[in-house]
Amino acid sequence: MKSLKVRDMKTQLTNKQRAGRINWETTITMIVFHVGAVAALFMFTWTALIVSLVILWVAGSLGIGMGYHRLLTHRGYKTPKWVEYVLTVCATLTLESGPIQWVTTHRIHHAHTDVPADPHSPRDGTWWAHVGWILTGTAQKHDRATVERYSPDLLRDRFQVWISRWYFLPLVSLGVALLVFGGWSVFLWGIFLRTVVGLHATWLVNSATHMWGTRRFETTDDSTNNLLIALMTFGEGWHNNHHAHPRAARHGLTWYEIDVNWWGIRTLQLLGLAKSVKLVNASGQRAGGRGGKLEGVLRKAA
Ligand SMILES: [Zn+2]
Ligand SMILES: [Zn+2]
Repeated sequence: MKSLKVRDMKTQLTNKQRAGRINWETTITMIVFHVGAVAALFMFTWTALIVSLVILWVAGSLGIGMGYHRLLTHRGYKTPKWVEYVLTVCATLTLESGPIQWVTTHRIHHAHTDVPADPHSPRDGTWWAHVGWILTGTAQKHDRATVERYSPDLLRDRFQVWISRWYFLPLVSLGVALLVFGGWSVFLWGIFLRTVVGLHATWLVNSATHMWGTRRFETTDDSTNNLLIALMTFGEGWHNNHHAHPRAARHGLTWYEIDVNWWGIRTLQLLGLAKSVKLVNASGQRAGGRGGKLEGVLRKAA
C-alpha cells in the first residue's frame, strides 16, 4: 500500500520536479565544448569558417530539421530507408543525442506543450527551457518504458536502435578527419564552435519561440513565430505554425517565412526521394495526405 502511494506521487511529479540531480556527463561535455568554442575564436581562418558553415547546414538542416524533427518525430513525409539513415547520421553531428531519445523528448513536448509534463517549457523558467532541462532534467535520458510508449516505431528499426547507442561516433570520426586534413583551426571551428552554435540555435526554439514572436494560430500553448530563430535554425522558428500543424513538412507558410528545411524536403521530393509530403496552407487547411498510424501512437501515449 505504501509503495503504491509512493509510485502514485512519482507519476504526479512534473518533469522539473523529477529533475534536480546534475547530469555530470552532459554538463562536463557542455563545458568542454563551450571552452573549445571560445578557443576557436582566437584561431580564425576563412577555410575554418566556410567548412563550419557547411557542416552547420548538414547537421542542422539535413540532420535536425529534415531528419530528427520533420521526418522521424512527425513523419511529415516518407523517404527510402537509406535517405532516412543518412539524415539521421547528419543529425548525430549536432551532439543532440541519438534519434530515439531526441524523438521521445520532442513527442512528449508536443503531447504536453507548456503544461507541467512538458520537458522544456519556459513556464518553468527561461534558463530551464533553454538548457537547464538537459543539465539536470530527465529528458534525453528517458527510461525504457517511456521510450516504448513514445517511440515504438523507432525501436522496431535496428539501425535507429544501433545509432541511438553510438550517436557520438560520426562526430568523433568527423573530428579526426578535420584535424588530420584541416589542422587545429578547422577542427576547433568545425567541431566545437559549430556544435555550440547549433545547440544554442536548437535550444532557442524551446525557449525563445515559446515566449517571443507572433502567433498566426490560436494554439493552447505559448508557441510563436520568430524570424530570427527561423534564420538560425533553417526554418524551425515558425514554431507557432508548427504547433498548430505538427505533421506538416513545411513550417514557413508564406513567401517571407523562410524555411530552408522545407527547400531541402522539396528538393528530395523533386528528386523522387520524398513522398506523401504533408502540407497545410497559411489558413491552416490541409493539403496532401494524412497518415493515421503515428497519430494513433501519440494519442495512446499522451
Ligand atoms: Zn514547442
Ligand atoms: Zn515538432
